[in-house]
Amino acid sequence: MNKTIAIIKGDGIGPEIVTEAMGVLDAVAAKFGHTFTYRDAPMGGNAIDAFGVPLPDSSLETCLSSDSVLLGAVGGPKWDSQPSANRPERGLLKLRAAMGLYTNVRPARMFSDLSAACPLRPDIAARGIDFVVVRELIGGVYFGEHSTEEVDGEQKATDIMAYSEHEIRRVAHVAFQMARKRRKRVTSIDKANVLDTSRLWRKTVTEVAREYPDVELLHMYVDNAAMQIVRDPSQFDVIVTENLFGDILSDEASQITGSIGMIPSSSMGEGTRGLYEPIHGSAPDIAGQNKANPIGTILAAAMMLRFSFDMAAEADAIEAAVDAALKAGFRCGDILQTGGTLVGCREMGEAIRSRI
Ligand code: NAD
Repeated sequence: MNKTIAIIKGDGIGPEIVTEAMGVLDAVAAKFGHTFTYRDAPMGGNAIDAFGVPLPDSSLETCLSSDSVLLGAVGGPKWDSQPSANRPERGLLKLRAAMGLYTNVRPARMFSDLSAACPLRPDIAARGIDFVVVRELIGGVYFGEHSTEEVDGEQKATDIMAYSEHEIRRVAHVAFQMARKRRKRVTSIDKANVLDTSRLWRKTVTEVAREYPDVELLHMYVDNAAMQIVRDPSQFDVIVTENLFGDILSDEASQITGSIGMIPSSSMGEGTRGLYEPIHGSAPDIAGQNKANPIGTILAAAMMLRFSFDMAAEADAIEAAVDAALKAGFRCGDILQTGGTLVGCREMGEAIRSRI
């Protein structure tokens, strides 16, 4: 297959980690007979320096006309004094909106060789952690009306949380389709005992579930879910939830698997084009020092192959190579444990590439 990939290296450690992910993609292309064509799309602080804006039109066009987008991270102290409308993160928000990305998917998977980095009790960690959080990304309270007014001599603030059936339905379909390729269980998380939006959420997800009789659907209140994720994460396969709950639960889910440097994320809309990135930021404190862990970005590239290009075997090959490199003892600083071999970003990339 021939695929074009827009590459946003970004700022800080972005160029280092994306370079390693591209190296791994090249190894996959060579092994499986594909051609990946990379198209550079400057975004973030570096784009502000070069073009005066965080997302130049030319970069947006490159992303919209490519088969998928791979991103490192944007931002850093150099651009903190920019007016809020011209900060590096604005580029990312504009890109998400322009690509119509309404679903965010974040896996919470613990590699068995990193179980010592898991903050949960060993007997809980031993049961394994392997689930995904499917989060609605462009609705709910983050996108509702916000206002602050003076009422009876004091300030009163209001944030509106609204959901329409179609917004719930489309993200529910993503969750059920994903569950079909996994262990066939969806846990829908809401606060239906209190919120109208949650009651509509529960009713709509239940309706969508009828189209997937082979997938089990469970409902859980968000406060219970926050507790269950640390009590017994092995019970989850696919979690689907609205924007605010998903923001909080997906961070909790990442934390229990170990380091922030290990976790990928994908954002999808209609069609197969997605935005794939690690969950961490540009880590300016270690930028340019060959210290960054590239695994989150490499696993993001694997997600791109699986979800956007329907290349399951190729994605499996990347995930197996990451597993093998960890088993061989290679560790970047953020995941170093006794007995591991400390390596830099380039060496970790090479260790994974050579195991494809
Ligand atoms: P961060 O995720 O960049 O860093 C937090 C800590 O984790 C740092 O100590 C860093 O060294 C470490 N870390 C992060 N990724 C690592 C990796 N791959 N390997 C090893 N260690 C790693 O968060 P921050 O410091 O709060 O933010 C730095 C900048 O990144 C800010 O400008 C912020 O706005 C931006 N940011 C961007 C994105 C994005 O592009 N999607 C996301 C979050 C933050």
